[in-house]
Amino acid sequence: MTQRRKIAAGNWKMFGTSGDLPELVAIGQAAAGLSGIETVLGLPATLLTRATGNRVSLGGQDCHAAAQGAHTGDTSAGMLADAGADFVILGHSERRSDHGETDDQVAAKAQAAWAAGLTAIICIGETRAEYEEGRTLDVLRRQIAGSLPEGATAQNTVLAYEPVWAIGTGLTPTADEIQAVHAEVRAMLDAQLPEGATLSVLYGGSVKPGNAAEIFGLADVDGGLVGGASLKAADFVPIMEALAQA
Ligand code: PEP
Repeated sequence: MTQRRKIAAGNWKMFGTSGDLPELVAIGQAAAGLSGIETVLGLPATLLTRATGNRVSLGGQDCHAAAQGAHTGDTSAGMLADAGADFVILGHSERRSDHGETDDQVAAKAQAAWAAGLTAIICIGETRAEYEEGRTLDVLRRQIAGSLPEGATAQNTVLAYEPVWAIGTGLTPTADEIQAVHAEVRAMLDAQLPEGATLSVLYGGSVKPGNAAEIFGLADVDGGLVGGASLKAADFVPIMEALAQA
């Protein structure tokens, strides 16, 4: 069976200006010394063109579903690609909550990303209330069915499971919970897509240097989507190293 892609992806969110680029350079230098993993940084669109030329793949954090048009303030997938991106994060919980993004919209954006040659990192995850009500798998099943278009392959799509209540909170599910959910997610992908079994599934939500090795050691976790700890090389490089060693 083909090896699934191992990906350490960072999400800088709405943080970072040109003064922060030395962190990205240091992350790129560390990435050059690691084998077997892909390192991706989802940057503010304003930094993309300034960040090219490093040993780290670049990503946007959202794109419009249309290739171009009268959409003031939006960025198309083609523009991200033109600026140096190979990836785009789609359907992040902050996009879903701040901008009311629906599964249908995420799926349309994924198709736009593919058309521009980008790999879509599609995010799914349950809220704290849904977790406490035992509805996690129902929510993920609905989000996977709605957000991943037909035609998703291991080359054009990566899934990120991010419990909303774990993002930026310092809280995480237990290792057993993460593995159990990832195994179920993998089964859902396998049932829905011809190549579903080959897609990489990342875990996101308060991944830190101190918990990365345990999380990446889980059988069905193929890497991480990392927010706060991706802003500084001193935090993100140990996370990349933990993935390379997993
Ligand atoms: C994220 O932004 O996708 C994320 C997982 O953030 P954090 O690592 O800070 O929880």
